[in-house]
Amino acid sequence: MKFTTYKFSEDLTRNLDKLGFVKPTDIQYKAIPSILKGEDVFAVAQTGTGKTAAFAIPIIENINKYKTSRRSYGIKAIVMAPTRELTIQIANVFKKLARHTKVEIFSLYGGVEQDKQIEKLQDGIDVLVTTPGRMFDLINQKVLRLDKIDTLVIDEADHMLSLGFVEDIKYIKKMIHKKHQTLFFSATINPEIKKVAFSQVKADAIRIQISPKNPVSKNVKHFITFVEMDDKRFFLERLIKEKPNKKFIVFVRTKVRAERVAAAMDRVEITTLTLHSSLEQEERNAVMHAYRKSAVKILIATDISARGIDIADIDYVINYDLPDDPENYVHRVGRTGRGVNKGIAISFVSTEEKEKLEEIKKFINDDIKELKTNISTNQIIEAKMPRYNFEELINEDEIWKKKKVVKKEKSEAARKAKVKKAQEQRKNKKKKKK
Ligand code: ADP
Ligand code: MG
Repeated sequence: MKFTTYKFSEDLTRNLDKLGFVKPTDIQYKAIPSILKGEDVFAVAQTGTGKTAAFAIPIIENINKYKTSRRSYGIKAIVMAPTRELTIQIANVFKKLARHTKVEIFSLYGGVEQDKQIEKLQDGIDVLVTTPGRMFDLINQKVLRLDKIDTLVIDEADHMLSLGFVEDIKYIKKMIHKKHQTLFFSATINPEIKKVAFSQVKADAIRIQISPKNPVSKNVKHFITFVEMDDKRFFLERLIKEKPNKKFIVFVRTKVRAERVAAAMDRVEITTLTLHSSLEQEERNAVMHAYRKSAVKILIATDISARGIDIADIDYVINYDLPDDPENYVHRVGRTGRGVNKGIAISFVSTEEKEKLEEIKKFINDDIKELKTNISTNQIIEAKMPRYNFEELINEDEIWKKKKVVKKEKSEAARKAKVKKAQEQRKNKKKKKK
């Protein structure tokens, strides 16, 4: 099945092609028809499987079809996401898919001046991608009208619901068009939150769950290694210096730790970027820009970057500290291995974090492979050892590549055998006829 079979508007089809989207991913294949029909959808699928386009494509198609001119008659769809960076990113996906169509998109978030945002809203837009905070500010100031909205999307739905936004979602659902569709998307869900989500969709909502028992993306090889708290920085330094051309995202527990790790890296001449909620929004945007463009290839971040962020070329996720919420383990390691890419994640686990590790294992229903180092921290500090003995890890890239080649070779051999068989059958038939 290709995107061309859907018979979307010409512009949308062309935009999909330009983005290199030929075939829908599983979640897109399952969600798009229902969303086009106006049904409620509750969708769970692993990180990096194209959930954004799964809702953006049908929303754009529906709005574009219904509009007769570029003029907006009020916001038709609203997408809620937990962080500002994610809001900007989702709006960008919409914008790329909607290029040259009649659909206008705007991302709304806090931490910046609101006057310009209000102006833009009054210009007329069709799709609003927003964080809840700024949205409610503007609703309270009566500058944001929601009565024409007939599609409500909650991305990272489990997180939004567990943050206590369920009351806010109920409130929004009362303000928007009575006949509306509600779409929940996430990579993780726990039974409790699932119940809450189901209470907010229609009884006949389409439930799509493309999630094997272990919710960690299949494109990510993930490991733990036991490192004591005070030794972590040496391990990180070593790892980064061993892989000088690779792109890393390093997750830490707190803002203070993010700055501390950055300072420690700075002392050993490793340039890093940091992202956490104490930075001004302009700085945050600049950091994301520099990291996306690979101007600096190492980002040290708190859990505000754990969810949703899509940067195709991140090679390594390092859990410098384990996350407090076990589900964030799945989201953090899911920052690599996106789309068709493969990635590696390594978690540094100290003695005091062993309990957290058990919780994570329970959440993912699986064990996590341990990378054993045969060198002591002292040896690392004194740089006596030429390399880590992260043998498996160091070879990982090669392992991925080899697997791919073998698979290709196998399928190529199978194809040739098929062709040969068909040729022989034809020959035999001819002989029989004679
Ligand atoms: P998720 O929300 O499921 O974590 P995203 O929506 O961020 O994933 O998409 C992950 C990556 O997959 C993006 O870089 C996106 O461009 C790519 N992608 C999405 N759909 C397709 C498709 N049909 N074909 C190829 N790549 C796709
Ligand atoms: Mg997403």
